[in-house]
This record gives sequence, structure tokens and C-alpha cells, in this order.
Amino acid sequence: MSERVPVTRCAGCDAPCDAATVADSTHPLPVEGDLSICAYCGAVGIYRADQTIRPITPQEWARMDPGQRRQIEGASQFAAARRKGGTR
Ligand SMILES: [Zn+2]
Repeated sequence: MSERVPVTRCAGCDAPCDAATVADSTHPLPVEGDLSICAYCGAVGIYRADQTIRPITPQEWARMDPGQRRQIEGASQFAAARRKGGTR
């Protein structure tokens, strides 16, 4: 289920992000520190406290659990490949 969030422009492709689908069902809206994957280009970002999105830093990538990082990279590549397929 998608929830409305403040509009943020994607750092990767400039697409407006105004909705979030939270993978963790324990909270319906993204909270500070949650990861965001752009549905259009696969760019990975981090939610701020005000539910806008900033790009992830190399330090944050480095600190991430390797299994989680693989999942994120897979989802990111899936989104990017889907966009290349012209289904936007
Ligand atoms: Zn994007």
C-alpha cells in the first residue's frame, strides 16, 4: 500500500517522488533513515525526518549489512531495467 509523502525530486533522474510503499509493515509511513529506491531510475536515497529524500552517502553504503546491500542493489537494478523497457 502506497502512502503520500512530501514531493522530492529524485537525485538520479529528477522524477517527482510523492508516494512511498513501505516494505516493513510495522510502520505505514517512511521514517528518518529508511531507504528509498526510485521507481523510475533505481537511485537509492535515505528519508529525512520530514519524509523528503536525500541521496545515500558512500559511508552509509559501506555500513550497510552486505545481505541488505545486495537486496537494495537488486531492487535498484530491477527498477532501472524496467524503466529502460519503456514501461514508465
Ligand atoms: Zn530516479
